[in-house]
Amino acid sequence: MRLVFLGAPGVGKGTQAEMVAAKFAIPKISTGDLLRTGVAQKTPLGLEAQQYMTRGGLVPDNVVIGLVAEKIGSPECEKGFILDGFPRTILQADALSEILQEQEVVLDRVMYFVIPRKEVVRRLSGRRSCSTCLAVYHIDYVTPKQEGRCDECGAALVQRSDDKRETVESRLMVYKEQTSPLIDYYKEKNVLAELDGTGSVEQVQERLLALLSRS
Ligand code: AMP
Repeated sequence: MRLVFLGAPGVGKGTQAEMVAAKFAIPKISTGDLLRTGVAQKTPLGLEAQQYMTRGGLVPDNVVIGLVAEKIGSPECEKGFILDGFPRTILQADALSEILQEQEVVLDRVMYFVIPRKEVVRRLSGRRSCSTCLAVYHIDYVTPKQEGRCDECGAALVQRSDDKRETVESRLMVYKEQTSPLIDYYKEKNVLAELDGTGSVEQVQERLLALLSRS
């Protein structure tokens, strides 16, 4: 199963990708998580990426394409994978198609998550992430058992710097201009499936699994 989860920042792609990946025992590849790990570890790649991420812009294509190519080529992705947050530009989508062609495999489905813009802003501004294991919560929708602490590892929950209101606006603009053209791109390739991303995590999961079970 080779899937791409597509949609604006904050639509819930990451949360759903995590659950589907666990259910089907395939890895979730989140370029955002890979980059944030690089930033936290102050690797050369992380330091380069940071300047784009804090402004809400996209990290250069060659950087993220390299990250994804390495992951997809690894043995853990042999049975499939879920790409979360990649591709984000037409150039990245073309590169993905080349990587898959070289491996003689195809992309099965692109799940396109749709929610109203107002809800996107609400979800992003209320999102909190674990400072250590990157688990994701929401101040109203997905609350931890102990306020401000991660259920998984007990570390402090923090707001991602790019989830602050000013940066959210730039990220949504970048999505509209550079990423939303991928909707038509994948429609033309007949792999796009549209998914209503509103409602609870469980409701979206049910809809998503129903869509995935259709051939
Ligand atoms: P995300 O966690 O997917 O919302 O990504 C957080 C940030 O990482 C984005 O706002 C970008 O700055 C950067 N990023 C993640 N994935 C990509 C990508 N495929 N192309 C370029 N930049 C990316």
